[in-house]
Amino acid sequence: MNENREPLPGAAPASADFRDLTLVEVEQLVANAGERSYRARQILHWVHARAAGSFDEMRDLPASLRNYLKQSFTIGHPVSSFVSRSSDGTRKLLIRLDDAEEIESVIIPTEKRMTLCMSSQVGCAMACEFCATARMGLHRNLTSSEMLSQILAARRELAVGEELTNFVFMGMGEPLANYPRLVRTLAIMTSEWGMGISPRRITVSTVGLVPMMERLLSETPVNLAVSLHATTNELRDRLAPINKRYPLEVLLDACRNLPIKRRSRITFEYVMLAGVNDSIADARRLVKLIGPLRGKVNLIFYNPLPDSPLRTSSRAAVEDFQAILKNGNLTATIRESRGLDIAAACGQLYAEQHIPA
Ligand code: SF4
Repeated sequence: MNENREPLPGAAPASADFRDLTLVEVEQLVANAGERSYRARQILHWVHARAAGSFDEMRDLPASLRNYLKQSFTIGHPVSSFVSRSSDGTRKLLIRLDDAEEIESVIIPTEKRMTLCMSSQVGCAMACEFCATARMGLHRNLTSSEMLSQILAARRELAVGEELTNFVFMGMGEPLANYPRLVRTLAIMTSEWGMGISPRRITVSTVGLVPMMERLLSETPVNLAVSLHATTNELRDRLAPINKRYPLEVLLDACRNLPIKRRSRITFEYVMLAGVNDSIADARRLVKLIGPLRGKVNLIFYNPLPDSPLRTSSRAAVEDFQAILKNGNLTATIRESRGLDIAAACGQLYAEQHIPA
């Protein structure tokens, strides 16, 4: 993917943000301007490595080329309209877009990593019962430059010596429902002419858009996470209604046949909901469902929403659940809840800022 020589789909002509462009597109532009092709990498280096905010900063380009670019393109300036800092180091950003829509990104520090949780859409159409973003519905897809904006905005919030190490598309939206722009974004993130981020450090999380899962792993080298959350179709229909279209047996069958690269595995996300999906029977069913796959399970403490009856499972229940998975030879980790004091669950900060109680 890094050396993609074909134009990628998913450009955003309406925004005309230069950061939407791939190398092959910039080379075409440069040729149209009558300049040598090496100028393309020079411009992209300014945009992605040096985070230039305008063409005027690109002093080593001929003025005529800078003026040519300025006629058709801007370089967006992502602005965090609100930053909320947790006592555990988690930082949640609300980023204002040109049309005044806002998206969330979360910086999550752990002992060894500094992960950025990124959004792919404004809102979401997937209607998961436990999710604050679901309540917004889908406003629109993000462009690639808007997805990339989150990295720039997050880098501005880091302290000296801090660096983003991992990137997860697990924020607002279903990334695979915005597929062409997602793939374009991943190309820009991972290419040496773009941001140069290792694809091993990028994870795309889906609630289970089966046809697009296979496409993603065939076309990109990033990691995949699948939000499972239930072990019966009856419960998953309720928690994640996409299950009505792609029920558990279809989803897991697709996972079995995915083109997984050597040394990588699918992660199954499982949000722990007290009295809903956290019983011993659920854990045993999960072993049966996931056991034959080369997957690992991530058990997630739920960040409760203020007006929802759903509650997170107790620590004892989560640990008992984990023990059953481990006894069944599954790799099972517990993800501690981060940023509880800043409404860090996906879509929660947006809701607090925009939706009247
Ligand atoms: S959990 Fe993810 S897929 Fe489900 S509604 Fe929320 S943002 Fe969308």
